[in-house]
Amino acid sequence: MTECPECAASVDGGEKIVGEIFPCPDCGTELEVLKTAPFAVEPAPREAEDWGE
Ligand SMILES: [Zn+2]
Repeated sequence: MTECPECAASVDGGEKIVGEIFPCPDCGTELEVLKTAPFAVEPAPREAEDWGE
């Protein structure tokens, strides 16, 4: 269990794996799993979707 870096809601590691991206259950921010023991997350980078020009 850790906290969402955006809203501080409790986030359960459950069966997540390192590198997995999932939305915060409370605020919906996409979070990336950094570590599973101890469980730690950071806001997921978004550059993959829209590079623009
Ligand atoms: Zn959140």
